[in-house]
Amino acid sequence: MSICAAPSYTLKALNNLFIEMTAKNCNQKCKNCYINFSQGKAPKDFISVDLINEAISDTLNENLQCIYLTGAEPMTHPDFNAILRLCLKRCNVCICTNGSFLNEKKIRFLSKVESEGQNQIFFRLSLVHFNESENDNIKYRGNFRQTVFALKTLERYNFNSVLSVQNYFKFPENELIENFKRIFAENDIKNSDLQINLSYPDFEEDNFVKSSPKTDCMFGRILTVKGVYSCPFLAGDYRGRTGSNFQNFSKNINAETEFCATCSKNKKPIFTIG
Ligand code: SF4
Repeated sequence: MSICAAPSYTLKALNNLFIEMTAKNCNQKCKNCYINFSQGKAPKDFISVDLINEAISDTLNENLQCIYLTGAEPMTHPDFNAILRLCLKRCNVCICTNGSFLNEKKIRFLSKVESEGQNQIFFRLSLVHFNESENDNIKYRGNFRQTVFALKTLERYNFNSVLSVQNYFKFPENELIENFKRIFAENDIKNSDLQINLSYPDFEEDNFVKSSPKTDCMFGRILTVKGVYSCPFLAGDYRGRTGSNFQNFSKNINAETEFCATCSKNKKPIFTIG
């Protein structure tokens, strides 16, 4: 086990623009979520279309490959459809969702939106366990079935999806892969990718691994209502702040948090697909 001080990560290219559509609004409350939800009614903290427009125009010279709509739950945003269309004019868009809004009618509508232009819509869904009840105990009741249904239906409409599995139960990776492949086969899911990520925060075993990690903050930034930050984990956290807007966003990241320790050990970026 190799332990070292917190590394500093440099932005190599702004390929990924994450947009935090809301920090606090989600229609579910998963136990494994890295967001701290306050008790009671969520504040109306939805990002404005103007702020997104400004970020897109400030980054016109960057090689943006994908805009990720994140949250909490991005599909709770009242202007979700307008924002999706706006972002699709710039590049591909990945919707990072709990899947609960993805019924057949909505997927058909999203397929129509995609067909209006050249860029593609991707989806990033997540599960924590290959057993339905174990998964739903951590996520929420019905999550497993909704996610499998969404993956199957998205595939029927020719969308590409990634199933991100947070290794919450710390299974050997092979066991997770085998079991999720079995679930894909049982449900005739052929074109979705599987992405296994370490559990987070994973700070108790060791700190930072001195390998050559590839982290989300090396290739992207997240826009929030409070400014620009290194990655979705550190959205709103002063330790990840890189500026108030996209006039200046390339500051080095002192990767000192428990989340950064997990990233340094993961083989690939946690939020980025592909
Ligand atoms: S949590 Fe990961 S992606 Fe975010 S700043 Fe730390 S190392 Fe970078």
